Amino acid sequence: MSTEATTDLAEDRPEKKPKKAKADVALPTLAPLHLRHIVRPDQRVRLADVDPEGDDGGMKKADGQALLDDLRQRLQKLQERLYAEGKQSLLVVFQATDTGGKDGTIRAVFEGTNPQGVRVASFKVPTVEELAHDFLWRIHKETPGRGMIGIFNRSHYEDVIVVRVKNIVPESVWRPRYQIINEFERLLALNGTRIVKFFLHISKDEQKQRLQDRLDDPRKHWKFSLADLKEREYWDNYQAAFEDAINHCSTEYAPWYVIPANRNWYRNLVVASTLVETLEQMNPQFPPEEPGLDKVKIPD
Ligand code: AMP
Ligand code: MG
Repeated sequence: MSTEATTDLAEDRPEKKPKKAKADVALPTLAPLHLRHIVRPDQRVRLADVDPEGDDGGMKKADGQALLDDLRQRLQKLQERLYAEGKQSLLVVFQATDTGGKDGTIRAVFEGTNPQGVRVASFKVPTVEELAHDFLWRIHKETPGRGMIGIFNRSHYEDVIVVRVKNIVPESVWRPRYQIINEFERLLALNGTRIVKFFLHISKDEQKQRLQDRLDDPRKHWKFSLADLKEREYWDNYQAAFEDAINHCSTEYAPWYVIPANRNWYRNLVVASTLVETLEQMNPQFPPEEPGLDKVKIPD
């Protein structure tokens, strides 16, 4: 896939794109797998038309998991380069309905990356202080600095999703936010941040099953909230709100991906392959060594 940045973004980059580095691990290309799930800026996605099971092309779960192991290793090496280079950053946004698998995906995909270069920010119900500011105030503070990968477990998109479904603010407040979000993400992109956004798409039946599992297993009770049952009643409204957010805010510089997420292994695979592909396009390089290192002798 060619670069997803718009021309003017590309022109703003301080340096020419260096030659593509050789991949550290030989792997079949997965580009078609994740390209199937990207939402192009001119496209309108209907969530009801996206199969949450996903099309694995006949791949077996065990093969998928072996592939995920390889992808993780590649991700770890790319992350090390990104950190060492210290010039660009990657922002990964996760949104989903309750039980959609945000936590599980973050754990499975980023396992083994260097915690020094990866930061997760979880956005909960805003605090009084957060509510006293504009909706991006708490978000902007958590965006990744150069060299970092920032992971958003929920995000600024809650401010066009939950606030809309639960009528927390009127439409005259949330609707202008689509454009504000696009401009905010453009600011980040122009400042050297690549953005990828994942909507983990599960079916209503799958959610029922997952809630039931949480209820049946005492070790999962901490994850169960009666409030989730209340939220489930708003399923259709949530789907509509997610759909609109995705359609209004999938841009060249910050694309949305709708990930079939009923099956964890397939979900992890598509997310990991998308991130590896994105980081390979970013092509981070180790900084040049200081001249004369070959003559250096470490004193006793
Ligand atoms: P959890 O991720 O299960 O810990 O739940 C976090 C809760 O915070 C969810 O119910 C979200 O809908 C809610 N939340 C996150 N951001 C916002 C926001 N901006 N406004 C209102 N509720 C939010
Ligand atoms: Mg919850």
